Amino acid sequence: MPPQDPQSAPANGIVHCAVPAPLFEALDYAKPTVVEGPLQPGTRVRVPLGRRSVIGVVLSTSQHSDHEDKLRTLTEILDTTPLIDDKLLALLQWAAHYYVYPLGEVVISGLSPRERRGEPPAPTGLAGIELNQRGKGLPEHALRRAPKQALCLRLLQKGPQSFETLEQAGVSRAVVRELIAKHLVMACDIKRPPSIQIKPHLPPTREQATAIAAINQTQRHFSCHLLHGITGSGKTEVYLQCIAHVVERGQQALVLVPEIGLTPQIIQRFEQRFGPVIAVLHSGLADSERDRHWAMARDGSAAIVIGTRSAVFAPLHNPGLIIVDEEHDASFQQQDGFRYSGRDTAVKRAQLLDCPIVLGSATPSLESWHNAVQGRYHLHTLKERAGSALEPSKSVIDIRGLDLHGGLSPTLVSAVKETLAQGQQALLFLNRRGFAPTLMCHDCGWVAGCIHCDARLTLHRKPPSLRCHHCNDRQGLPIKCPDCSSKRLVSEGMGTEQTELALQTLLPDTRIIRADSDSMTGRHAMTHLALELESGEPCVVLGTQLITKGHHFPKVTCVGVIDADSLLFSPDFRGEERLLQLLTQVAGRAGRATLPGRVFIQTRHAEHPIIKQVLERPYGELATQILETRLNAALPPSGALAVMRCDSRQLQQGMDFLASVVKSYQPQQCRLIGPLPAAMARRAGLFRCHLIIHGKQRSFVLQAARELAKRAVHSNSPQGLRWSMDIDPAESI
Ligand code: ADP
Ligand code: ZN
Ligand code: ZN
Repeated sequence: MPPQDPQSAPANGIVHCAVPAPLFEALDYAKPTVVEGPLQPGTRVRVPLGRRSVIGVVLSTSQHSDHEDKLRTLTEILDTTPLIDDKLLALLQWAAHYYVYPLGEVVISGLSPRERRGEPPAPTGLAGIELNQRGKGLPEHALRRAPKQALCLRLLQKGPQSFETLEQAGVSRAVVRELIAKHLVMACDIKRPPSIQIKPHLPPTREQATAIAAINQTQRHFSCHLLHGITGSGKTEVYLQCIAHVVERGQQALVLVPEIGLTPQIIQRFEQRFGPVIAVLHSGLADSERDRHWAMARDGSAAIVIGTRSAVFAPLHNPGLIIVDEEHDASFQQQDGFRYSGRDTAVKRAQLLDCPIVLGSATPSLESWHNAVQGRYHLHTLKERAGSALEPSKSVIDIRGLDLHGGLSPTLVSAVKETLAQGQQALLFLNRRGFAPTLMCHDCGWVAGCIHCDARLTLHRKPPSLRCHHCNDRQGLPIKCPDCSSKRLVSEGMGTEQTELALQTLLPDTRIIRADSDSMTGRHAMTHLALELESGEPCVVLGTQLITKGHHFPKVTCVGVIDADSLLFSPDFRGEERLLQLLTQVAGRAGRATLPGRVFIQTRHAEHPIIKQVLERPYGELATQILETRLNAALPPSGALAVMRCDSRQLQQGMDFLASVVKSYQPQQCRLIGPLPAAMARRAGLFRCHLIIHGKQRSFVLQAARELAKRAVHSNSPQGLRWSMDIDPAESI
């Protein structure tokens, strides 16, 4: 359809569109008269916006607009059938409203990269060829002088053929090219026949069987299940068997996993059970792959869709079940731009779809735990390890006054040595990469700090440098103190590089593998590590948070937490919860297969309630205890929080802006705290401040957040200032 002059186009109805612009509302356009029939919601259209022409998504149509005098006309309709169905469109609109983020920028989350550019969805089948009109006109025994071409023609006379089948029949690409040159055939997309052949499952344990039966019983209706199973208890097996149930009756399952959990192993495990019917969606995919998998999810050629956070917005043909694995994981929370919780959005999606959802974890978030305790979620517990694995033994090492080598106490060192002597593997956890977190001058006390952030620089030896872990700035090592010119520069504290060095000295004949984000670069680094450990050679893995999730290391029998104290005393209200989760997850890495495991926690605070109890009491009891203190303080999961964040070139600018936004605003039933500078007030050259909205009831907090956003939109913000709303924030500091 040719572009039309917006003024002269006769309208035949109003189209409300989400457009890519920082607007909280839809924009109205006139539908040109040449378009007959209704325009369905979820269809992409091309519309004028300012001086640009952009891709919008139809949300609804009507006969009236509040802006009739200024209406412009949409210029093109891009789809004959909607790309976003009603339920996904409802989810996207809910998310934009709930998370107070511009509508058009949220709605495009339902489209693949090429669809956002206005191109048709990617083909999902096998690439192949079919006869065109001219080719169809050929007699049966044509092309006899070119036997390969004749063979190809005979095959095509039966119907379209994929390149794969043609090749198997002895027809090469060269032959196909000749037929294309003769204008007899054309490219086509051949739909794969659904090839779901579900392999037999493991006989479930009693606990697994109970969970599977309970989940399957609620199918076809919304219900939320919390699957709380200790590490190695067979949660994944429960997912697989519930998915089988759904897939067998022709429905799809959506599986969300944390960033680091989406490994080739997990995909392989699904493929082994279900065959090649899986669409995989994660941020590391090339756009073209993402396009194809997105389209496979939409047209149903994928029975199972596995992805990270943003896959919660993947289109689904006939969804029947949603699973969120490691639901407590922080990577489900988008931390910038459109800030949303993938887990919470998944629960909303299940509600809209009226299907069950399973949240699984060894260490459920207190939000989900609260819902389970309150009876809003069905709780299923797996207390025993599947197969023959045993529970590890655990002990605290009080390191006060001890001589440490690279942070390691004599007790931990001898435990590691024993483990190696028995031909087994050890895993040590230290949550700080680099050599040391601080470099200072021994004579005047100068500390190396980042010029862009309120943060210390970390000393790295490989290669020698000072690096900021907040803005990635990197500089060479100083040879003398910039303040007093002393050459006595000393490092303080412990990082993985330093402990690695100590281990190499203590255990000269042992393979030491450092696993942190400096050493584990590339998508397959984790897989290589897992494969290496699977070989069973005795070794020591020294790693950061990276090694606490996702992978199973079945031959590891000794686990050590080198410095639990670095995890204590967080200023955030979720600090204790995170500590409990981390310690439980690390401890869960020990003794997964038939070998019994041992866990050691080094601390100077052996009397700290969580450190003391994490070894003795089950996660659920401790979670309930922390939950109580939260509830008493009216902090989530009771009550609600929102944070209005602001980045600016000068701190005062941001503080003034937030102050002007809240000026003379009296929110109903909630408290405003701030404006305050953030805990790290300057990061990457920008000053950060925020305003906290806290209330006992979510609805009032949301109402205040929306009102403040509205005021911010209508106020004049200084150049370079950016604000955003963070609903149910992961961090409140
Ligand atoms: P989780 O996801 O809870 O960490 P997995 O599902 O990965 O646990 O199971 C841990 C190990 O136990 C895997 O090697 C798995 O094959 C095995 N397993 C799980 N369920 C069973 C079962 N019912 N019988 C035998 N082995 C099982
Ligand atoms: Zn000095
Ligand atoms: Zn920095």
